Amino acid sequence: MHVDFLIVGQGITGTLLSYELLKAGKRVLVVDRPDARKASLVAGAVINPLSGKGFRAAQHAALLIPAALQTYRSLETLLDKALLREQTLYIFPGDEEEVRAFDAAIQREAGSHLHWMPEAARDEWGNYFHMEQGIGMQQPVWQVDAASLLECWRQYLVAQDAYREEVFAYDQLVVNETQTQYKDITAGTVVFCEGTGAVHNPFLQGLPFTRNRGDVLLLSAPGLPATGIYHRGLRLVPRADGLFWCGSNYRWQFDDLEPDTGWQAYAETLLGQWLRVPFAIEAHLVAERPTTAGQVPLIGRHPRHAALAVFNGLGTRGFSSGPYWAAQLCRLLCQKEYSLSNYSKDWLDRHWSKQA
Ligand SMILES: Cc1cc2nc3c(=O)[nH]c(=O)nc-3n(C[C@H](O)[C@H](O)[C@H](O)COP(=O)(O)OP(=O)(O)OC[C@H]3O[C@@H](n4cnc5c(N)ncnc54)[C@H](O)[C@@H]3O)c2cc1C
Repeated sequence: MHVDFLIVGQGITGTLLSYELLKAGKRVLVVDRPDARKASLVAGAVINPLSGKGFRAAQHAALLIPAALQTYRSLETLLDKALLREQTLYIFPGDEEEVRAFDAAIQREAGSHLHWMPEAARDEWGNYFHMEQGIGMQQPVWQVDAASLLECWRQYLVAQDAYREEVFAYDQLVVNETQTQYKDITAGTVVFCEGTGAVHNPFLQGLPFTRNRGDVLLLSAPGLPATGIYHRGLRLVPRADGLFWCGSNYRWQFDDLEPDTGWQAYAETLLGQWLRVPFAIEAHLVAERPTTAGQVPLIGRHPRHAALAVFNGLGTRGFSSGPYWAAQLCRLLCQKEYSLSNYSKDWLDRHWSKQA
């Protein structure tokens, strides 16, 4: 079998890159292993143009968000499936300091999509939430139905004979100057999209991956309207299966990916103080985010092995930034002279060149 591109991994990066390459008329094969800890399936998959407690514009938001919306809408059409939902983010400040931060953000982002919910409209919300400091609103944010996107795309690939479920065996990859051989497959380029699985990839040694894990609870809360995303220290995101995604924490030091029972107890206490409706915890999930030193994505061809490329390191915001970078990488892979905008190739080359 001959393909132009063999893609290892079908999280959001492998999904988006294979979509772009197929759209560009390339022959593609995606190899992915079943993985309950796939970051893309544990993620809240929220696209938010603002970030952090100060509600400041996320880096490159003006570039990344329009690209993301356009890509997910095109995928909705192609797959005939609703994948992107426009949402309101309801923010419940926990104290005076958070109220001041929200006020400051409204002033700073004048004309943006932040405002306080008028007092008259708040009464109904008292049925669902305890609130001392009012409710801030941000409109719009977006939510990707990641489970549907990844599964529908997998089925699409299967129908094109472009998908194999298996663990990619690195020791069976032979890299030549202009192409690669993997088992029965000859591929012009292998693109590694394995998320945090990349730490086991001998071809990616030297790249500055860091380790960060996040815990997530899946809640049933039948009395809570599934019409918005709610935030108070924790975020509650309604899912297509009727449950609420509740997350998350960021841990940089850890030995395993067992559920953090201390965090779960903290989350349960916080939810008990916040929600007026009954809730039950249905599952506790854990995944690693593919973070890098300096929070810089890893995108491009290997400096010495032109038949190898990487698409990784999208960190905490893969659903926002993935579509833009997938389109950029597709152009880089298909057009010899193209260079990525908003990206330092030297940075990637410097780290990758350290490899023996
Ligand atoms: C708790 C949590 C909350 C998050 N919330 C958000 C959010 O709200 N918004 C947002 O934009 N981002 C969020 N993120 C970040 C987002 O999940 C990541 O940026 C993104 O999912 C990374 O995608 P990926 O394709 O690089 O990796 P992954 O989704 O992990 O996919 C990698 C794939 O490669 C496969 N693979 C690895 N090794 C091999 C091998 N040897 N052979 C075959 N297959 C292999 C894996 O099985 C997996 O399927 C969150 C992450 C976490 C953990």
